[in-house]
Amino acid sequence: MDNTKEILQILAHDFPNAKSELVFGSPFELLVAVILSAQCTDKRVNTVTPQLFAAANTPQAMADLPIEQIEEIIKPCGFYHSKAQYIKQSAQDIVQRYGGQVPRELQQLQTLKGVGRKTANVVYAVAFGGQAIAVDTHVFRVSNRLGIAHANNVLDTEKQLMAAIPPEQWADSHHYILLHGRYVCKAQRPLCGECSVRNLCKYYAENNKNDVRQ
Ligand code: SF4
Repeated sequence: MDNTKEILQILAHDFPNAKSELVFGSPFELLVAVILSAQCTDKRVNTVTPQLFAAANTPQAMADLPIEQIEEIIKPCGFYHSKAQYIKQSAQDIVQRYGGQVPRELQQLQTLKGVGRKTANVVYAVAFGGQAIAVDTHVFRVSNRLGIAHANNVLDTEKQLMAAIPPEQWADSHHYILLHGRYVCKAQRPLCGECSVRNLCKYYAENNKNDVRQ
């Protein structure tokens, strides 16, 4: 049975103000913050970006900033060599190909140097109000545990979610599923006992066959 609609209705109720927890003031700042958020918490990213954006918060300024300075500032976010490269590459690409303005189209965002598919989808949805489903570690884990997706990689998960969810709900659904993963359906120890969608969850059904609670 397809429980997707019911699950999303319940999660929408759980997270009525669902939105990105990254702090940003422009599409470019969001793009940089999402690059930094890989393997790092949004909270930590938010402690680093004020200093980074004080030094450079436009593609041109970031393209001009020495990479060593970027690395020094973003060190607390981890993987700072590669993240600094991605930030620098994306800034240079935006300057060279898009006149210093972050492109608004998903396909253009997805071809920016240094920008992965997840980052492009988040920027398209959050900064420009487009409909996309960014599959990060939380969305991947939760949607497959719930049974909305049945995939072993993020791209297939994204495709299956897009097939299961009406397009006008893609961006909101991404936030609901992500926040559920961050606060309830945690990676190591999911809080199934407190979970509002427990009775609709494939993982829960498979691991609690004798639990008759409703
Ligand atoms: S029941 Fe457990 S595994 Fe299923 S969504 Fe809830 S927390 Fe995650």
